[in-house]
Amino acid sequence: MSVKLCHMCGSDLPKGCRRFCSEKCRRDFQKEYNREYAAKRRAEGLCRYCGEPATDGMASCRPCREKYRKRMRRQIAARRRTGLCIRCGRPRKPGYRQCHLCLTYSSMWRSGR
Ligand SMILES: [Zn+2]
Ligand SMILES: [Zn+2]
Ligand SMILES: [Zn+2]
Repeated sequence: MSVKLCHMCGSDLPKGCRRFCSEKCRRDFQKEYNREYAAKRRAEGLCRYCGEPATDGMASCRPCREKYRKRMRRQIAARRRTGLCIRCGRPRKPGYRQCHLCLTYSSMWRSGR
């Protein structure tokens, strides 16, 4: 039997672990995998979420965009209720609906175009 190594970092697997040495490695691998997967689908013109053909020149199909929008709307509503930044959930800058970072970022983005 060969020695099993962690798929992510290549270190020896502790007894009882099948593919990854730690929860962190498992998550890192998943992230990496998702990124590659999304890039591949994008290149093929498929929805990044479900793999159906993407529409309207976007990276996703219409039903998935709807779902995503709904989820975002719920998240934003929850953040509004709790008084957190509507974009990232960090504490808001006083007098604004967003945090300092998000405000800086969005003004950068706007002037950069
Ligand atoms: Zn590892
Ligand atoms: Zn989709
Ligand atoms: Zn923010």
